[in-house]
Amino acid sequence: MQIIDGKLVAKLTREDIAGQVAALPQDECGKAGLAVILVGDDPASQVYVRNKINGCAEVGIESTLIKLPADATQEEVAGKIASLNADPAVNGILLQLPVPKHLDEAALLRMIDPAKDVDGCHYVQKGKLWTGEPELIPCTPYGVMRLLDHYDIPIEGKNAVVVGRSNLVGKPLAQLLLDRNATVTICHSRTKDLGAVTSRADIVCVAIGKAKFLKADMVKEGAVVIDVGMDRDENGKLCGDVDYAEVAPKCSYITPVPGGVGPMTVTMLLQNTVKAYRLQKGLDK
Ligand code: NAP
Repeated sequence: MQIIDGKLVAKLTREDIAGQVAALPQDECGKAGLAVILVGDDPASQVYVRNKINGCAEVGIESTLIKLPADATQEEVAGKIASLNADPAVNGILLQLPVPKHLDEAALLRMIDPAKDVDGCHYVQKGKLWTGEPELIPCTPYGVMRLLDHYDIPIEGKNAVVVGRSNLVGKPLAQLLLDRNATVTICHSRTKDLGAVTSRADIVCVAIGKAKFLKADMVKEGAVVIDVGMDRDENGKLCGDVDYAEVAPKCSYITPVPGGVGPMTVTMLLQNTVKAYRLQKGLDK
């Protein structure tokens, strides 16, 4: 069994991204720029936002943090998005989710210029992914694919099962695996006899938000197991959707939590910001 080291792959990928940024042409708008909008003061969101801003500094991307109060109106947030859409120094815009309940999150995400949608949330970016022309890919599934590739894990012709069908993780991950010629099954909360489905899989990816959900009897010997979950166990300790202690001995490869998929998400956001810059400047098609 080999542990997939997300920290290592993230470090190597960030070194590569720093090289990509250094090689970008410098114009009057500077190098690639990311704007992060944080509405309210949710402590977890503050940590995620800090990681994103620090990640930018690490690879040489300019970053701006726009903090809006928890009672900001839809118009205020929308106005901020509109001004960032129009700002040529901003190549990527990220609205930190979740936003406070009184705001229409979906409407705000739709307002982000798709060319600057570095989270890959906009339906234009989703459409491109679905039609085989991916541009700005949702960061977490993108990070999962990078991990599989770093370890040369074969995907073509394999039975891949994705548990979870969220717009941000499960669905795009299934599509990315399909693009790489896996035979993909998507499971969700209404799937019957889920263990029978996962135990036939060569690659099992779990993204459901249920601590230690995937047990050893749901996994076949030698499977690759990717744990996207970020949960708390009965002692409040960070854990994943996979019962790592009992599943790991059966796997050929497995991601730990923490230190697996997590470090890749911000890394691929940085990669998307460089990609957005290149697309906007006509450096990539
Ligand atoms: P989400 O939007 O809440 O979606 C959860 C999905 O899991 C839904 O499709 C749901 O099915 C399915 N599900 C829930 N309970 C299930 C069960 N008992 N059996 C089968 N399917 C079940 O969650 P998400 O945003 O995709 O996030 C999933 C997990 O990944 C969370 O722990 C989150 O914290 C983590 N995450 C981690 C990162 C990272 O950077 N590592 C990034 C994003 C998310 P239905 O559609 O039928 O309701």
